[in-house]
Amino acid sequence: MSQRRVLVVEDERTIAESVAARLRAEGFTVDLAHDGPTAVAKAQAIHPDLVVLDVMLPGFDGLEVCRRIQAARTVPVLMLTARDDETDLLVGLAVGADDYLTKPFSMRELVARVHALLRRMDKLARTTEGHEGAADIAIGDLEINRAERRVRRGGVEAHLTPTEFDLLVHLAIRPRTVLPRERLLAEVWGWADALGTRTVDSHVKALRRKLGADLIRTVHGVGYALEVPA
Ligand code: CA
Repeated sequence: MSQRRVLVVEDERTIAESVAARLRAEGFTVDLAHDGPTAVAKAQAIHPDLVVLDVMLPGFDGLEVCRRIQAARTVPVLMLTARDDETDLLVGLAVGADDYLTKPFSMRELVARVHALLRRMDKLARTTEGHEGAADIAIGDLEINRAERRVRRGGVEAHLTPTEFDLLVHLAIRPRTVLPRERLLAEVWGWADALGTRTVDSHVKALRRKLGADLIRTVHGVGYALEVPA
């Protein structure tokens, strides 16, 4: 496999340097940017395989960087946030990040997330290319075209991030079945950590906002089920 390229965007130099050093030790080629405009310019110039993106940046913030780089081309984004409630807020805004990590984080955790995200994107690319197992799904007024990764509800198209789309498909292939949050986390995000179930909650929130609050039922203390009213 050719060397993967990661763009690390973080204005706190010590964090940026230690993240870069650890990712280089893992075999990645790493580029650094310390402010918003440089991050966007570098992302366009080097076409990274993944972006690690801090939210608070000079120039313009991580949200704006995420929007701009995702507008040009789909690239997985692991966003670094200062607090858990900031993560919820960002997911609610649907900025297009695929995963979130709250500071302070361990380098081990960061590396695990980076690998999981890249594995997920590889799997996604294979599925899209081969249309392997990519049968369309229609439940009530919900239509999912898996080959083209498009979703419509009541005939209206919704624009989902890659992660939101994958989560929706996981729920939709087993409608009315309650899927535990830990299982969704393992299957969609590719990692297992009970703390990460908040990420699942936040993405469900985003799906409800985009597709209707009645689509996904919460089973308290267990997980979620897709329910399309007849
Ligand atoms: Ca910062």
